[in-house]
Amino acid sequence: MTRTVYVNGEYLPETEAKVSIFDRGFLFADAVYEVTSILDGKLIDFEGHAVRLDRSLKELDMASPCTKDELLEIHRKLVELNAIEEGLVYLQVSRGSDGDRDFVFPSADTKPTLVLFTQNKPGLADSAAAKKGAKVISIEDIRWGRRDIKTVQLLYPSMGKMMAKAAGCDDAWLIEDGHVTEGTSNNAYFVKGNTIVTRPLSKDILHGITRKAVLRMAEEAQMKVEERLFTIDEAKEADEAFTTSASAFVMPVVEIDGQQLGDGTPGPISKRLREIYLEESRAAAI
Ligand code: PMP
Repeated sequence: MTRTVYVNGEYLPETEAKVSIFDRGFLFADAVYEVTSILDGKLIDFEGHAVRLDRSLKELDMASPCTKDELLEIHRKLVELNAIEEGLVYLQVSRGSDGDRDFVFPSADTKPTLVLFTQNKPGLADSAAAKKGAKVISIEDIRWGRRDIKTVQLLYPSMGKMMAKAAGCDDAWLIEDGHVTEGTSNNAYFVKGNTIVTRPLSKDILHGITRKAVLRMAEEAQMKVEERLFTIDEAKEADEAFTTSASAFVMPVVEIDGQQLGDGTPGPISKRLREIYLEESRAAAI
């Protein structure tokens, strides 16, 4: 089945979808994005993603391409047209183009480019990777200073994943001024006793939609949450560690920089949080 994608008001086969070579998303990474997961054919935390998209657009003075209700309709239609039971919807808004390359933003009446496509991922929830747990390395965080805006400037995170792969690992945690910021595409946590530690929100990290939900669920389950700066050495000495993201939910981490955590298998708190998150998210999906 050919995938149907959405580009600026049209639903098209992926082979026929086109965006200008002058689009600022392509030339300047002048674009923001969201990834919403689908379980049982329904969207997980659509509201959270829509609110964050709006914030990213406002922070960059970028026009909103459509209303939240229209966005929801596009998401649902793509899920239906592509018969997605488990997978993702990728959405990208760029500042568009007025037909040439120029550092200066185009005039305010230039239409943003809106692109959405689905990714079919059977087994997303019942994931073998989550049962095994991830191995991470730590690398320096050399990204720009507005990581709270979800831009498509993902070259360094991609390089980080490649460095992890080259080291026989799954992902990288980023370190700035001696403290862990986050993972290449996820928020980072460690667990010591009954306490979950993660970095507080600021411009240094993405304000994860999954982070917000998981921290609320952890507190509801009587787990203690500490939002503070932490070092990679603290995480290496922890009982367990995990990451959160919309596309991998709660992912246990079993090794950091070659040091095994606990018995080298996903820890009980990480596993429990993954279960609670999946159960509650499925129940609230729309
Ligand atoms: N941090 C970074 C750098 C990310 O790219 C992501 C995923 N896009 C996250 C955190 C997790 O955010 P969310 O839970 O909203 O997917």
